[in-house]
Amino acid sequence: MSNLSRTQVPGVYHRRLGDVLVTGLSDGYVDMGYTIFRNIPEDETKAILARDHRTSPPRISVNAFALRVGGRTYLVDCGSADLMGPTCGRLPANLASAGIDPDSVDGVLLTHVHPDHSNGLTDVATGQRLFRNAEVIVHENEINHWFNDEAMAKAAERPRRRYFEAGRTQIKPYMAADRVRTFKKGEVLPGVSAIPIPGHTPGHTAYVVSSGGSSMVIWGDTVHVPEIQVARPEVTMEFDTDPDAAAAARQMIFDMVVTDDMLVGGMHLHFPGFGHMRREAGKYGLVAEQWAFEV
Ligand SMILES: [Zn+2]
Repeated sequence: MSNLSRTQVPGVYHRRLGDVLVTGLSDGYVDMGYTIFRNIPEDETKAILARDHRTSPPRISVNAFALRVGGRTYLVDCGSADLMGPTCGRLPANLASAGIDPDSVDGVLLTHVHPDHSNGLTDVATGQRLFRNAEVIVHENEINHWFNDEAMAKAAERPRRRYFEAGRTQIKPYMAADRVRTFKKGEVLPGVSAIPIPGHTPGHTAYVVSSGGSSMVIWGDTVHVPEIQVARPEVTMEFDTDPDAAAAARQMIFDMVVTDDMLVGGMHLHFPGFGHMRREAGKYGLVAEQWAFEV
């Protein structure tokens, strides 16, 4: 084994949606402990993961997506840089593998401001924007919350550092360059609509991409551990700012996906992060989209 390559080929997966080339990009994964879950006993979590042949403790994929249409390039989220440990921070290498020059990115749509989604915006050592020609497109409640000094003062030390301070460090250079655009809901780009799903964070947003009669939803952190939260949508996370609202939003998005038969792109679905949902006897199921040789 020792002289055989054991490194995977790059984490890049293209998928056509009408006129849009949607590309799943891996930032890596992170192994979390069992204390992240709320509303479920630990032995049940372990039983579900064992049933599905998953690693213990749960492994969470971290993905971003690129949307390329009409000569324009957008990212939905931008990875974690060096904040999530050695198994993350792979987005820049995978962007290069996909042939996406950071200078060619016209916009970064954020599902929310959390280190695994927004920490790839700015080089913390220099304060330089890593996407020099991009605007950051984000829900106004997200900016209002993470830039609220009162909320920051109330936060415990770790979330204050990792969410409030890191979020501000990432976004401020874009503000200084007048390159942050906020929204409430609705169309944010031609063919891309924002659906607020507050709960996980106050401005957590899903984006619906529509082209040529097809549509998909890029649902951000609707689920963190799909095996658990698809089977048990009421299970919430330690880092949800409003767990009850997060559970309600998850239910709403699941209903929309099944009713409208939409393709799903998930930041924490296992790479490459595309799937479909079904509902049988009141229970949801998620199936990974089958692999295609070319698009
Ligand atoms: Zn996340």
